Amino acid sequence: MRAIRFPGGQQIELVERPAPVVAAGEVLLRVRRTALCGSDGKLWRHGAVQTPGHEIFGVVDRPGHPLHGRRCAVYIPVHCGECRACLAGQTHTCERESTLVGWNRDGGYADALAVPQQCLLPVPDDIPDDLAPLLLDTIGTAAHALRLVQPLLRDWAGLRVLITGAGPVGLGGLIALQDFGATDISVADPRAARCALAASLGAQILPVDERSRRFDLVLESSGNLAARNQGLEVVAAQGVMLWVGENDDPWTVVESKPVRRKDFFLVRSFYFPKGDHDLNIALLRRQRPRYAQLVDAVFDIDAFAVEFPRFMRGERVKPLMRSDA
Ligand SMILES: [Zn+2]
Ligand SMILES: [Zn+2]
Repeated sequence: MRAIRFPGGQQIELVERPAPVVAAGEVLLRVRRTALCGSDGKLWRHGAVQTPGHEIFGVVDRPGHPLHGRRCAVYIPVHCGECRACLAGQTHTCERESTLVGWNRDGGYADALAVPQQCLLPVPDDIPDDLAPLLLDTIGTAAHALRLVQPLLRDWAGLRVLITGAGPVGLGGLIALQDFGATDISVADPRAARCALAASLGAQILPVDERSRRFDLVLESSGNLAARNQGLEVVAAQGVMLWVGENDDPWTVVESKPVRRKDFFLVRSFYFPKGDHDLNIALLRRQRPRYAQLVDAVFDIDAFAVEFPRFMRGERVKPLMRSDA
């Protein structure tokens, strides 16, 4: 089978690999689509021993298995199912297992991969292949973060919201917020094309680093450290600064007056509980035409070495790698 390798230094290789070894409790998944994700930039720069790709959708090929032949997305956190977090349904924060598919074991930039059967999320037939990967980071991560802070907020209607970063999670969050009933949503992103897309989806555009207005909810999806500090300043008293973006650099919090002199919540959120899958399918069904606007390219695995750098330059929002092997 074919697989993508990131040897480091922003190099990309398309290599031939033997078929994956499928262990007990696992199935072979034949990849149909894997969405590109900005977080893979780390692996692209520094290199990875595993096959990267973590927004995976394919068809189970394990004769005799109850899900054989079924279309499934891949839930990336491997989880024990028995710890306090897992028993509470918080499978993404398992206290015993920290393996993530595509990060600590082979992922989906390939024709096929072995997947623990607990990580299979069946996708109904009315969700097309080109939208199925959105159920993961774009919808799952963003919607879970919003559901997490909902008890801290008043009704969504009337809430003043700022989204920093108009990438797939930010834009996925925008659509989810609108679905929940929020109408006053501003988006800040240095990229004009992203702002235009956010505006076409109904957001107001705010200049990056604008600090005069206050917001009841700030969804920080960029990972940019200045945007995080901006969020701490512009979140209103009693409001929520929702920290979702990722960045490996140390974050220095500047305790300016607008940060110090108020009560507010700072909430970190990561990925989503497996039990959210049905809610996420329902959300995708209700907002399908809008989510479909985020998928702006579908390309064959042969074109990966051209398309991935293009994505990393910000020329695409949510491109999908296709394998029809
Ligand atoms: Zn991702
Ligand atoms: Zn667990």
